[in-house]
Amino acid sequence: MSKESLGNKAKAQLIERFLRKKAGGEGAPAPSALSRAVRRSSVPEAFTRFDRHPDYERMLVSKAAADRIRLRNPFFIAHDGVAGAVTYIDGREYINFSSYNYLGLAGHPRVDQAAKDAIDRYGTSASASRLVAGERPIQRELERSLADNYGVEDCLVFVSGHATNVSTIATLFGPKDLVVHDGLAHNSIIEGIKLSGAARRSFPHNHADALDTLLAEVRGQFERVLIVIEGHYSMDGDIPDLPAFVDIKRRHGCFLMVDEAHSLGVLGATGKGIHEHYGVAGKDVDIWMGTLSKTLAACGGYVAGERALVEHLKYSAPGFVYSVGISPPVAGAALEALRIMNSEPERVARLHQRAQRLLARARDAGIDTGHSQGYAIVPALAGGSLKATRLSNQLFEHGINAQPIIHPAVEEKAARLRFFVSADHTDEQIERLIAALA
Ligand code: PMP
Repeated sequence: MSKESLGNKAKAQLIERFLRKKAGGEGAPAPSALSRAVRRSSVPEAFTRFDRHPDYERMLVSKAAADRIRLRNPFFIAHDGVAGAVTYIDGREYINFSSYNYLGLAGHPRVDQAAKDAIDRYGTSASASRLVAGERPIQRELERSLADNYGVEDCLVFVSGHATNVSTIATLFGPKDLVVHDGLAHNSIIEGIKLSGAARRSFPHNHADALDTLLAEVRGQFERVLIVIEGHYSMDGDIPDLPAFVDIKRRHGCFLMVDEAHSLGVLGATGKGIHEHYGVAGKDVDIWMGTLSKTLAACGGYVAGERALVEHLKYSAPGFVYSVGISPPVAGAALEALRIMNSEPERVARLHQRAQRLLARARDAGIDTGHSQGYAIVPALAGGSLKATRLSNQLFEHGINAQPIIHPAVEEKAARLRFFVSADHTDEQIERLIAALA
């Protein structure tokens, strides 16, 4: 256990104190009719109250501990305007390394204008599921442009990137199947596998050989097998050996899904993603998944691939069929951002140059940057959640906004600060960060 983490007894005392204060204070919930009735029955009262949920109580312990040592809560910070390379919080200017604004397209005048034009034409909402309420041409235009990005037949856009993974995996795979994922897979991938009912196995991060060995042992026990990797890992800033994974999926008769949330706009000379980086044909990957919320300055997710895949999802993925279509201004913004990405590859080159600079300067300063390859994401490993949060607090005092990544998002010993670089960051801003960190 780290020196800074609390012992069990201290935790128990803290929560007791916290709850006692809460029970007596203004925020104490009035007993509901349900809990009054339950008190007369044999159901333990704790099972009738949200404020007695064990996970919530654990959260209160961490919060009480942080308050006690006067840590500023680094979460849910309110930005005064567009959070670009620079942001304003409570009227003060900060250099911002906490947004996935890789190509600097959030708040870009053309992207904003495209959203406004779409509102003028279609209004703000698609109102209902596209299956029943119909399409807006701008939604299909976005899907065709994303399919072109990968050189595949079609694409389907969902209203959330997270829901895209959950719904896609759960629709296509079931109890007779296996899904094997990288050890650092995003939560949305894990949730999708759980919902699918398929068997789940993981392989050590980026170890294609370990996957190969695992499949040699277990492939025969299942009907369909899906391998899920990410194009660019958001916690570590490293990328997989895509050609090796394509080779493995072919040899073992599996499907390969690549989550491009952090690689669209980031990898390849023109930002098309990891297939461009390696010169792999888009058709060599079965399911391209990505989000509109990062490089594309919007909100939502997509799946691109062969027509049968897209058509199947279109008529049966619950996150698409039973959810509203992407709103026209959001589709308009993403489409315009994609156009800018395609026509201004210098943004991608600038992003790489800035990220490489940050990585090299951080390493020179003795900072542990883990496996980062310096395309856009650079972590600074801190060794513990408390230390990562303290460092984030200190940077904030120096006018720098950078998020701590703490347990349970990563293992406790892997807690870190994480810097998202944007094409709009200047060399001077990067030097200020290194000076503050060092
Ligand atoms: N996949 C990965 C790898 C992600 O990092 C994220 C979110 N950060 C998502 C999926 C979900 O995307 P969204 O936030 O757009 O819902």
